[in-house]
Amino acid sequence: MPKLIVQKFGGSSVANVEKIKNVANRIASYKRKGYNLVVVVSALGDTTDELVELAASISSNPSARETDVLLSTGEQISVALLAMAIHELGFEAVSLTGWQVGIISDASHTNARIVDIKASKIRQELKKGNIVIVAGFQGMTADMDITTLGRGGSDLTAVALAKVLNADRCEIYTDVNGIYTTDPRIEPKAKKIDEITYDEMLEMASLGAQVMQARSIEVAKKFNVLIHVRSSFSDNPGTMIIKEAKRMEGVIVRGITINKNEAKITICSVPDQPGVAAKIFGKLATAGVNVDMIVQNVSHTRETDISFTVAKNGLAETRKEAASIARTIKAGDVLVDEDVARVSIVGVGMKSHHGVAAGMFDALAKKKINIEMISTSDISISCIIKKKSAEAAVKALHSKFGLDKK
Ligand code: ASP
Ligand code: MG
Repeated sequence: MPKLIVQKFGGSSVANVEKIKNVANRIASYKRKGYNLVVVVSALGDTTDELVELAASISSNPSARETDVLLSTGEQISVALLAMAIHELGFEAVSLTGWQVGIISDASHTNARIVDIKASKIRQELKKGNIVIVAGFQGMTADMDITTLGRGGSDLTAVALAKVLNADRCEIYTDVNGIYTTDPRIEPKAKKIDEITYDEMLEMASLGAQVMQARSIEVAKKFNVLIHVRSSFSDNPGTMIIKEAKRMEGVIVRGITINKNEAKITICSVPDQPGVAAKIFGKLATAGVNVDMIVQNVSHTRETDISFTVAKNGLAETRKEAASIARTIKAGDVLVDEDVARVSIVGVGMKSHHGVAAGMFDALAKKKINIEMISTSDISISCIIKKKSAEAAVKALHSKFGLDKK
């Protein structure tokens, strides 16, 4: 059997006709080398964002089911056009939607989870010698309702297909050369990373790096799917996402991320009694608010301030909810600060080195950047700082941990 590769092309790689033709050429060159190919495509350019806006212009609260029917259309356009472009080059290709492929998901509309993939149709088409072009992002419930797999969900489609089809590798094509030590638009000295572990990539994606969907990395890790993130505009090797290897511990910090999509909420003068935190965060959870960092200040009196961060989308409701909670527990004011950013350092090497946090705080102190909140995990440390200092912080940390030197 010839080797099977799953290739995924993101929206920026198929943003216009010329780029679609470029992708078709790349696919054809792999077919000429004798590979079997399953190609997953995202919607053209910013199509999905435009569809979201279109829905918002009709309804302030569009039905999630209908949102999925709408959003999933973007990918159907891409697969058809790409198949046509491949035909023009003289190769056989068929496009398939998520439902034709049998990507069965749960019913959590707009963020559905894959529960099963039949893939028999893909196997049939491969056997006929076809290049199989699959619409990313699309799923279908057991009740035959259309779903989508969360923003950036084509990555998940690709990784899941690579696993189910037992592909030799999964290539994620994008408009940059791979994963970088930090955002090169902020720090031009950022370097492409050759190898990164699933855990580091997952942490970086969750903390704000935008190259791959976090959930797709989770699945890749679970099933050990080898991923190569690379540019659709060059033949240079990109970044391999792999299992942790002993040799990788030498690097303490692999990358630095920045996230400006969080706000800090403080509930002042909270009565310092058992059960109060449970009440606050229980109520927030019931309201569907996803809380991130939490800090409770030391109390000298019988009251304390509790701060936490939340995603900025839905902030208006979160603020209302927090105010109502504050009233019930007889706390004081609720302060909301949107002017914050989270900077994080990530690396598996942290597990076996000490003084990393101190190094981070020291670099920020030297730039006179005040730290408002801190949180740590096994392989990351995050600080909440003022938004205006975010770029300076990234640069300071990038140089502090030697990421500008190869
Ligand atoms: N088109 C979808 C989105 O923009 C899925 C994807 O790009 O992977 O989120
Ligand atoms: Mg997209």
